[in-house]
Amino acid sequence: MTSTLTDAAVDTFDSFDPATGAVLSSWPVHSAEKVQAAVARAKEAAQWWGELGFADRRTHLTAWKGEIARGLPELARLVHQENGKPVPDAVLEITLAVDHIAWAAKNARRVLGPRRIRSGLLAANQASTLEYPPLGVVGVIGPWNYPVFTPMGSLAYALAAGNAVVFKPSEHTPAIGAWLVEAWRRAVPEGPDVLQLVTGFGSTGAALCRSGVDKIAFTGSSATGRTVMAACAEGLVPVLMECGGKDAMIVADGADVRAAADAALWGAMSNAGQTCTGIERVYVTDASYDSFVAELTARAAELTPGAGTGASYGPITMPGQLDVIRRHLADAIASGGRALTGGTVDGPFVAPTVLVDVPETSTAVTEETFGPTVTVTRVPDVDEAVRRANATAYGLAGAVFAATSQAGVAIARRLRSGMTSVDAVIAFASVPGLPFGGVGESGFGRVHGDDGLREFTRAKAITRQRFVLPVPLTSFQRPEKVTGQLVRAVRLLHGRA
Ligand code: NAD
Repeated sequence: MTSTLTDAAVDTFDSFDPATGAVLSSWPVHSAEKVQAAVARAKEAAQWWGELGFADRRTHLTAWKGEIARGLPELARLVHQENGKPVPDAVLEITLAVDHIAWAAKNARRVLGPRRIRSGLLAANQASTLEYPPLGVVGVIGPWNYPVFTPMGSLAYALAAGNAVVFKPSEHTPAIGAWLVEAWRRAVPEGPDVLQLVTGFGSTGAALCRSGVDKIAFTGSSATGRTVMAACAEGLVPVLMECGGKDAMIVADGADVRAAADAALWGAMSNAGQTCTGIERVYVTDASYDSFVAELTARAAELTPGAGTGASYGPITMPGQLDVIRRHLADAIASGGRALTGGTVDGPFVAPTVLVDVPETSTAVTEETFGPTVTVTRVPDVDEAVRRANATAYGLAGAVFAATSQAGVAIARRLRSGMTSVDAVIAFASVPGLPFGGVGESGFGRVHGDDGLREFTRAKAITRQRFVLPVPLTSFQRPEKVTGQLVRAVRLLHGRA
């Protein structure tokens, strides 16, 4: 497979199979000049794409969706190779991503198309409309952990809104990014530059920030997010920040402990724990604690990490992350915690690890671990569970299990995060109509849903004067007596105690 910009590239980098370390493919490190050239082409393409209108864009997005759906087995194998996750998990990821393309394409007109707005008393002579035109060119900088689903939250929605996109996938998953862009070129041969690929490391991403794009949609760590924001600040380029998390699950008195343990296990360990909205902490009230821990531990012990078919989850994708996981495990144990299962690292594979008695000050509780590990902590009541769940600089997502779903929803409302699932984990990600994003160190702005479409547009307000007011308010012809009349009107309308 080749990238779209290979010709004059100087440096290259390799993509690896994280299970074996074998080189899979080689990619250009695109320079600032190459990135700028891609953005210049994208600006032209954006003109055509933006003027096409919602119906024609939907047709093209549907063709892209079809291309991905037909290539699903091939793409899933590639995701398995380059990211490491088991093929069935890759299939699930791609399925969700395809669903998002369908939703964005179908709903763009409803959300972004022109609509009448009531003009109000003072502007009764105006017909007001609101619409959401595209920004132009959006730069999408992606991570490696969900290399199809995560960037799709920006790609599909930015495209459906009428923007051209220049996509820089993670240096750990360039082939997957290239596959998506090649699928676009096959599906929309008349608009190949509407979605382009640039590859490379952070410097290529930084060049994208400074290339004259109209917005950067970044997904990655909070630390890199700060650097991206600083680069974008130079040109007042708006940013969407989808950053890390340290999500908590709350298991309250009377919850279905078996269901909660099953969900916590998936939330913590699927994708080898490399999920921004993964469960990294569980707070369990006294009454449920012992049975929950027993259930979770028994289930965790049955998981088998590996690279073959039948593995529960794969290797850690990014070798450097193994050091973070080791450091958090060591800190948890050194500060009094116990690993009831796992706690070991074998090559790129981390054993499923349930940690208890870990103090809240340990890095295993305070920092994003991004591995198949979870801390479980006993709390006296729901209030304390909520307090601890919220005692993090992050605020991405979380989950709640309680005696009734109404009680779960009430707890969900108290959690300082962008998304919460009740009686499930990460369910919000599979609902295209729901906005996805966080607060605090987890970032700001939203992908998915109506908000996700508007994120890639500018609100455009238009008034059209229908008739001239008998008493002109915004004219030097305004009679003097009008001011007194206005004061009386405002007091009458708004000044009552
Ligand atoms: P990362 O921050 O290391 O890299 C993300 C992307 O930024 C990569 O493409 C990288 O090349 C690029 N980059 C690096 N330095 C840059 C710079 N100076 N300027 C511009 N771009 C630069 O993150 P990662 O390790 O790829 O991803 C894991 C992180 O992503 C985790 O923290 C995870 O929680 C987070 N994440 C968040 C979401 C979400 O939706 N909130 C989704 C998935 C992953």
